[in-house]
Amino acid sequence: MGDSAEDAVRGTNDSAVESRCSAVNLGYFKDDYVKFFTRRSNERRPPIINRGSYARFMGFDIFINKFLEAGDMKKQIVVLGAGSDTKYFNLKQENKQPYKFFEIDFPQITFKKIQTIKRNKQISNLIGEFKINMGNTELYGEDYYIISEDLKFFSSKVVPKLEEHGFDKNLPTMFLSECVMIYMEPTDSDAIVQWISDNVPTAMIMAYEQILPNDAFGQMMIKNLKSRNIELKGIDAYPDLEDQKNRYLSRGWDQAYAININYFFNSHIDPSEYHRQMLIEIFDEIEEWKLIAQHYCFAWAFNIKNDTYKNIFEN
Ligand code: SAM
Repeated sequence: MGDSAEDAVRGTNDSAVESRCSAVNLGYFKDDYVKFFTRRSNERRPPIINRGSYARFMGFDIFINKFLEAGDMKKQIVVLGAGSDTKYFNLKQENKQPYKFFEIDFPQITFKKIQTIKRNKQISNLIGEFKINMGNTELYGEDYYIISEDLKFFSSKVVPKLEEHGFDKNLPTMFLSECVMIYMEPTDSDAIVQWISDNVPTAMIMAYEQILPNDAFGQMMIKNLKSRNIELKGIDAYPDLEDQKNRYLSRGWDQAYAININYFFNSHIDPSEYHRQMLIEIFDEIEEWKLIAQHYCFAWAFNIKNDTYKNIFEN
């Protein structure tokens, strides 16, 4: 990938943060930390984008909480392409952080995140004691670690760094890919999926990404991103929900699921919460929303190969 294409992918993090701020400012969900990671924290996005940010936030929040609440053994979370993700801070604020929480991203991104952390007492106090490497691209706390690496080199470079900082393959571990694997060459993202399946006997992976590249809306979505030099490299390899599921099942995962965001709203958000967020903004683009929501999915899979933890994903 040329530098400009890589920069464009890294730039997707800025728009994710600004959109998250917009939704938080309007009261869709609570995140006391996201505003520190952009200078444009007061930009207001259209209702349809706010609702998308809400869906994305809620999906991960629901599954992370389920994972953390299932038994009181040590657990790990690994965030692939974490960007300015604030999940660790939100969990720690409520004292719900797992035993170890790892984030991985390109050095250009981790450097900026670490600058923000160093400048902001509210965040650095929350983390507690930590060390930073020479280049200011990695941070090593007691339960929180930022690793700078290209995910393309997962087994050869990322895993050794994780292990150096206490990652334990035998502990129940949740891997998150929030709009990340979709930007990678499928051979590289699949290598991650395969490595986890082969090496982490009690694992969950959860991805949020675009699907359905071939209809008119899908084509428009791809064209819009292309005009910003961003390519959804994974979308043709996993174009629909069935392909998303099979991505994991064909690589040895024991169970896999994939649902689009319309279905997610109906199946995972309880009615009172559904109505609360519906009332935040006047929303008259229902048909457009349904169309967009069809083109995004949550896919998740479980590896249940260690009998000691065999019930952990049952709830
Ligand atoms: N997951 C975060 C969120 O949802 O807020 C950030 C999402 S942003 C759309 C995509 C992130 O993935 C960027 O921060 C980008 O730098 C990172 N990323 C993409 N490809 C990567 C790779 N090969 N190695 C490391 N990070 C990568």
